[in-house]
Amino acid sequence: MMVVDELARARRTVLETIAGSAARAGRDPGDIEVVAVTKTVSADRIRGAIAAGFTILGENRVQERASKVAEIDAIASWPAGQAPTWHLVGPLQSNKARRAVELFDVIETVDSLELAGRLSRIAGEVRPGRALPVLLQVNVDDDAAKSGYDVAALERDLAAILELPGLRVDGLMTVGRLVDAPERARPTFVALRALSERLRALDGRLGPALSMGMSEDYPIAVEEGATIVRIGRAIFGERHMAPR
Ligand SMILES: *Cc1c(COP(=O)(O)O)cnc(C)c1O
Repeated sequence: MMVVDELARARRTVLETIAGSAARAGRDPGDIEVVAVTKTVSADRIRGAIAAGFTILGENRVQERASKVAEIDAIASWPAGQAPTWHLVGPLQSNKARRAVELFDVIETVDSLELAGRLSRIAGEVRPGRALPVLLQVNVDDDAAKSGYDVAALERDLAAILELPGLRVDGLMTVGRLVDAPERARPTFVALRALSERLRALDGRLGPALSMGMSEDYPIAVEEGATIVRIGRAIFGERHMAPR
């Protein structure tokens, strides 16, 4: 099967699954964005995914996006307003912040005031007048294996982050616990949503976005209020060791 057909079929399956979950939760499926996570996926297949209708793509490493950007963006010159949007979904080291602002439209993984401040400054230089959309990554279930703000630190820093002129804080992001059954991820999603509601009641400048749910558990994340799901393997198949 042609790459584009195969990816278009995967896209339909994902959208149907989201629609099913949204219906169970009484939600509008149009409120849920799919980030197609392309780590280890070749530039060629990424172009196929864009042709198949995916409009939001995600990488977890700045370097990997940089290594593919020429191949993806040079060949297609996007009609105005139709360029795909890129999300950074992996941890960001401060020495890569400038490159990240250049290569990504949304940074989902802000997890310190220091990083937020740096991104705000750089955004003011690289894209003056256009605040950079970000999410605050929260380690909402205190999982030692994961990065992200712990809840107390986020509460401490939130007001200062929301003051930063170069950022637009769209909401919260979390990576679910690695569990043996998708249903067991549900408490993480419930917790992120509750945290969002609590923080937004304190400070309405925090946006309502909830980025949660991956290939194994996105149907459950949507039931629990996800507005962004980040899906790799359910679209592109299992990852192989070598990127490209
Ligand atoms: C890889 C990755 C995903 C996608 O994971 P799949 O299990 O392939 O759907 C989502 N979020 C983050 C942060 C990732 O690194």
